Amino acid sequence: MIKEQAIIIGAGPCGLAAAIELERSGLHPVIIEKSNIAHSISMYPTYMHFFSTPERLEIGDIPFTTPNDKPSRLEAINYYRTAALRNKLRINAYETVLRVERQSDGVFHLTSTDRYGVEKQYESRYVIVATGYFDHPNYLGIPGEQMDKVTHFFREAHPYTGMEVAIIGGSNSAIDAALELERVGAKVTIIYRGEGYSRSIKPWVRPSIENKVNTGIIRMLFESRVVEINSHHVIVENPEGRHTIANDFVLALTGFHPDREFLTNSGVKIEEEGFPYFDETTMETNVPGLYLAGVVASKHEANEIFIETGRFHGNKIAQHIASLR
Ligand SMILES: Cc1cc2nc3c(=O)[nH]c(=O)nc-3n(C[C@H](O)[C@H](O)[C@H](O)COP(=O)(O)OP(=O)(O)OC[C@H]3O[C@@H](n4cnc5c(N)ncnc54)[C@H](O)[C@@H]3O)c2cc1C
Repeated sequence: MIKEQAIIIGAGPCGLAAAIELERSGLHPVIIEKSNIAHSISMYPTYMHFFSTPERLEIGDIPFTTPNDKPSRLEAINYYRTAALRNKLRINAYETVLRVERQSDGVFHLTSTDRYGVEKQYESRYVIVATGYFDHPNYLGIPGEQMDKVTHFFREAHPYTGMEVAIIGGSNSAIDAALELERVGAKVTIIYRGEGYSRSIKPWVRPSIENKVNTGIIRMLFESRVVEINSHHVIVENPEGRHTIANDFVLALTGFHPDREFLTNSGVKIEEEGFPYFDETTMETNVPGLYLAGVVASKHEANEIFIETGRFHGNKIAQHIASLR
């Protein structure tokens, strides 16, 4: 049994921010991360730029300097990696937490497995869950969704040149992907259930997509949903009826949700509305000593917490733990 003062699960921006805050308050936490530092961000579209300006993504008061107005994915992973290394954070990479169980004496037993399948056991008084949401796409539950030509994670446009690509969704991820795909010569159809353009689209991107749609370069179907995916076409339903659309690839960019099952299994109460119970001032759940940090704490909308806001959760947690010691 490995004894720790505090364990943070997940080395995303909010887990790292929490680790820095706990270090500053005198604890020496270990982060257990199933991949490596800022894994989710490293999996974002290769050429993406954040909508946030750099100072709003900073953790631990470490300046995020870039000559660009909006940092790129590469700049962000560089920043978070540097923040972790400079603060000498303890990170057990490529280790997945399987279970967190609180014992009657108030100490947590935590079971993890490394990438070779070897289990490890830990003991800790405090556990902070900062597991994000990126592992859990919102599936559509339609026939054909499991086909190889369907992905819920867009990386880059090049493989789609000359292809008929259906993009499902109308948020920033969908619009950014559509514009990138059109630039490499893909034939893009966006299928979106909303009546008009989403209000979440970045204001500086909206004129570009409207222009491409108005000139017929990108096809955009509003009030529409894909009901079936087949090898050479998708079937779309909208108020005008049922349509068969030629298709080679589907990008289902329908968002993500946190893993509630992991929380339930750890004893966290899930409210009737489906989100986890926690005290907003301390981030402590109904399980004493078990805290949430980052987007895993989101309620109705997974997008209501993001780096800009979730990076402050660690400070609340550190203050609460300090008040108990
Ligand atoms: C395309 C895109 C653009 C975005 N742009 C912005 C932006 O401009 N500004 C902004 O503020 N936000 C933005 N966001 C949202 C932001 O990236 C997320 O809110 C943020 O990553 C949340 O940080 P986190 O630390 O809570 O979770 P994550 O970054 O997802 O980190 C969670 C970590 O936990 C690890 N993990 C999960 N389960 C386990 C387990 N069982 N054991 C061990 N480790 C585990 C994961 O591997 C991961 O590294 C964007 C999101 C997307 C998808």
